[in-house]
Amino acid sequence: MEPNGEKAIRGARRALVDAGRHLLASALTVGSWGNLSLRVTEDRVAITPSGRGYETLEEEDIVITDWDGTVQEGTRIPSSELPLHLAIYRALPQARAIVHTHSLYASTLAVRHQDLPPIVEDLVQLTGGAVRCAAYALPGTDTLAANAVAALGWHRAVLLANHGAVCWGTTLTEALTCAELLEKACHIYVAAGGEGHVHPLPEEACRLISGFYEAHYKKRQQGLE
Ligand code: 13P
Ligand code: ZN
Repeated sequence: MEPNGEKAIRGARRALVDAGRHLLASALTVGSWGNLSLRVTEDRVAITPSGRGYETLEEEDIVITDWDGTVQEGTRIPSSELPLHLAIYRALPQARAIVHTHSLYASTLAVRHQDLPPIVEDLVQLTGGAVRCAAYALPGTDTLAANAVAALGWHRAVLLANHGAVCWGTTLTEALTCAELLEKACHIYVAAGGEGHVHPLPEEACRLISGFYEAHYKKRQQGLE
């Protein structure tokens, strides 16, 4: 492990506990459902434990694994969606954090096996286009992971049929923001009456606004521009 590995792991544990509380507070999940992870170092991933409520989660509950999914630190069972998280990190080297939720409106589209068209500008800045719904598979399976990665492509969000949503970010804050924006967009889509009642953004606009996010807006949010 790299020299700063231990410090990075401590920081990741704290960040995941705080993010779990944030998920509850923003009603993106209830109880212990959903899960969160961070790519901590080149060979370690930090992930929330399976079946533990976010309300009472503590730093030592966070599990540290390697790329094979073998637990390296921690006494809890890692999230049952560890294969999903690892598959996304493997497919997308730029993904540093993953947030999986069972939020209400994203799940509403997911039970319809419906893609979310690119309808609102803020989410499209992050996703670059439509958010696809992955084919159904049982939770915690390699098939769920493969279906999610296939539907995700290079985008930052994907819906999981009859289940929920997954977002990734280059930071944990970005992944959480993406989950919140996705939930808001799904709410708008449902409130607007769904397909046939909304005007998707033109492809060129999707390309321009996601380019603006990557080149400028993201830096402004981080105080770098
Ligand atoms: P874990 O508690 O094992 O993370 O599972 C919750 C979940 O969302 C399964 O899809
Ligand atoms: Zn789930």
